[in-house]
Amino acid sequence: MQDMQEVIIGYQGEMSLKGLNRNQFESATIKILRYRVKDAGRFRIWCAQSTFYIEPEDAEADLDLAFARVSKVFGLAAVSRSAVCEKDFDAICQTAESYLGAALARARTFKVEARRADKTFPMDSPALMRELGAYLLERHPRLKVDVHDPDCKVIVEIRDRGAYVHGPKTPGEGGLPVGTSGRALNMLSGGIDSPVAAYRMAKRGLALDHIHFASPPYTSERARRKVIALAQHTSVYTGSCNLFVVPYTRPQECIRDNAPPMLFTVLMRRSMMRIAGQIARRQGCEALITGESLAQVASQTVQAIRCTDAAQDLPVLRPLIGMDKSEIVSISRKIDTYEISIQPFEDCCTIFVAKHPVTKPNLNVIRRHEHNLDERIDELMENALKTGELTVDLLREAKRIEFPDNVIARLTGISQEEIKKQRYDNNIRAAYKMVDTCGAEFDAETPYFYSTYDH
Ligand code: ATP
Ligand code: MG
Repeated sequence: MQDMQEVIIGYQGEMSLKGLNRNQFESATIKILRYRVKDAGRFRIWCAQSTFYIEPEDAEADLDLAFARVSKVFGLAAVSRSAVCEKDFDAICQTAESYLGAALARARTFKVEARRADKTFPMDSPALMRELGAYLLERHPRLKVDVHDPDCKVIVEIRDRGAYVHGPKTPGEGGLPVGTSGRALNMLSGGIDSPVAAYRMAKRGLALDHIHFASPPYTSERARRKVIALAQHTSVYTGSCNLFVVPYTRPQECIRDNAPPMLFTVLMRRSMMRIAGQIARRQGCEALITGESLAQVASQTVQAIRCTDAAQDLPVLRPLIGMDKSEIVSISRKIDTYEISIQPFEDCCTIFVAKHPVTKPNLNVIRRHEHNLDERIDELMENALKTGELTVDLLREAKRIEFPDNVIARLTGISQEEIKKQRYDNNIRAAYKMVDTCGAEFDAETPYFYSTYDH
């Protein structure tokens, strides 16, 4: 048993149907497998006959850890740990006994399955099953054969590089390799749903970044840490993701102070979508993802979704739209995010909310209120600039809501050069922000920054 060579085998799922593109999917999977097992030691990884092989290069390699990692790679329908031996009947018998003998000793019934991809092997599959079965029965006389529901399965695969002997395959994650469907920006709250949404879309081959809206001091540092923990936990499946934490306090206060309470949530969600849309484009993301589920709350009715969809024009993917909360919870338990999600910290979507939010918002009405809101903010700022002294705070606020230097100059009657000098003297410059990168097991390849005057 000690010097027996053991490997991990990954079996393709949907990618095997990909025709001419299949090579690309296989190369992507190999690259992902390499990243994922990197910290488990040195492995040789290749693909042959629609199967991935992950073979330790030395005794230091941690096969348990590598197996746990490989089991979470999207694109693999099943995985197994397997002993490898020469393509020789006696060697196969001895390997089966030493690798699976202990399991057979505990079982009452068993079955041998054989597959011969290498047709030069002299025995055909039925003969191999029969003869290996007889050999094992001789060593375990109390065993009985049960071809329908055996306690223990012995599977032999005769492939190009050797004979592979293993027990039953473990189901893999299925789906498609991350990155083969493009990149999207996931709107990550601290709740149960959005990490599950990220998992579901990564499963369909999307590489992800996350965006989170935080409104300190209404939302706490612990709430922010919780979101970081969620992004890190899901990265076991999604691979490395950037996490953008957007300071959202002022826009949110502004909506609260200037719009009817019953429209607050819809207006807020549209503004979040617009910001997310802009960051998505800058990051090369082609879609947004949310954890919305139809009719779960007032902002998730068909009418409310129409309003949020119309706020920007990237497609919004909602993988949980037709799922019940209990179904979402069971996935969140499976991917290990549930216990983090239920920690009771406030989210920006739960503060300032109206007692009776509108459930069937009308898009035209919403647009009118937004227009008023924009005008109101501009008007307040313009008045302040026209009538007041240009204090450092006022200048900072004007830049934060994106008033250009030439507009501030026109309204205040101060020259543009002087405005620029005042900004530099008071250190009011665009900051490049990217609060957190959730590095998982490999380096993020996208840039981490966006510019803002919100320090
Ligand atoms: P979740 O469990 O994901 O928090 P929820 O039932 O609490 O979902 P909402 O609060 O209405 O639902 O949010 C719906 C979706 O909007 C979330 O799934 C998420 O995609 C997005 N979202 C909510 N809050 C935030 C936030 N603070 N930052 C980024 N996205 C958010
Ligand atoms: Mg939420």
